[in-house]
Amino acid sequence: MYLIRQSGLPEIINENIDPLEYIDEDVMVEAKAKQVAELLQNSKHAVIYTGAGISTSAGIPDFRGPNGVWTQRETGAKIDHFKPSPYLLPTIAHQAVKTLVELQMVKHVVSTNCDGLHIKSGLNQNQLSEIHGNSYLEVCADCGKNHWRDYAVRNNWSSHKHETGRKCESYRCEGNLLDTIVNFGEDELEGPWNQAVLNMNKADLVIVLGSSLRVRRSCELPVMCLENEGSNLVIVNLQKTPSYDKAKLNVHCRTDDFMGLLFKYLELDIPSYVFDVTYEFGIEKVDDKSRIFVRECGQDKHIASVVDEVLFKVSLGALELDHKMRSRWHETEYQFLIDEPELVTKINVDLMMNFKEKEGVSNICSLEIDPVPSPYFCVKFRIQRDSVTGEMTVERVEEGGFCSIC
Ligand SMILES: [Zn+2]
Repeated sequence: MYLIRQSGLPEIINENIDPLEYIDEDVMVEAKAKQVAELLQNSKHAVIYTGAGISTSAGIPDFRGPNGVWTQRETGAKIDHFKPSPYLLPTIAHQAVKTLVELQMVKHVVSTNCDGLHIKSGLNQNQLSEIHGNSYLEVCADCGKNHWRDYAVRNNWSSHKHETGRKCESYRCEGNLLDTIVNFGEDELEGPWNQAVLNMNKADLVIVLGSSLRVRRSCELPVMCLENEGSNLVIVNLQKTPSYDKAKLNVHCRTDDFMGLLFKYLELDIPSYVFDVTYEFGIEKVDDKSRIFVRECGQDKHIASVVDEVLFKVSLGALELDHKMRSRWHETEYQFLIDEPELVTKINVDLMMNFKEKEGVSNICSLEIDPVPSPYFCVKFRIQRDSVTGEMTVERVEEGGFCSIC
């Protein structure tokens, strides 16, 4: 069901659009956030609709901003094809949206984004309609099973083919797996689209976060609520949208800032983003050598390996040996061989996790193993991003012998 594509071609609305971005004065944003808090508290079926603007603070380019993908393409500038990165983490706004759904203050979320950040924040598919698909989901053409990946599944960027080349892993199925991405000129996915329409038809409040509302037919969804008597539309976006005059409130503000203020007036906290990742490391004999390895053996939330660099420090009797490795795409295991295993007395492994490469911030996790009593070792780390300061912390939370965790 998920993969049946709806009729009606997507199309961009370009006419009479002011391309400028606006930011309302702080007092104005405060007043509007307070008003939205009241609308939300009085609503019975509130729906949030999100676009690229909710993900820009995670490092994903938008489409319609001054440096947006489409804006640049129209000026003839050469743009690098953006490949979704599984390293990206949900923004403060994603965390806030998830919290409102958990508290049932928001009944449904509709998103045009394929970046998977709503799912990573903890929303499930019943609470979310990803009408343009999800880069990390491939679906079996035969049995319909969803296969979630920690890498972007799309393999046919130059065509409208959706086969990823992989096969279904369900018992005795082996059907072809298809990506769920909706390209320009293609129809929306029927399952998410119908779920979105159903919720918009019930909605008495729709809050748009970070969408220029310029792609048909998806941009027609938020205004559907206006058919319901007494319903309200709120648009939070830096640019003006074609639905500007239909909205009760237009807030020109970044979505993270707006959600911070909204939560202040709702007297709620936005939870920090937390995920756990487990590493196994150890030493084992391979012929007459020893293999020293560290590998990721357990992870939640479909995030690719977050390790940027690994430094092995091995003590061979009195001798110290360093072995440094930089991570490559999708890498989850690092290893090297040494010749004289009987001389190994101690191994230290530093996992360097660089979450904000541009800002030069990195976290180092150190593991230590005594190869004699316990040749294998598992360690679980909890990685947390503070929703106020944005600071990332990595904490060692659990450890045990061989695979007692994972
Ligand atoms: Zn299958």
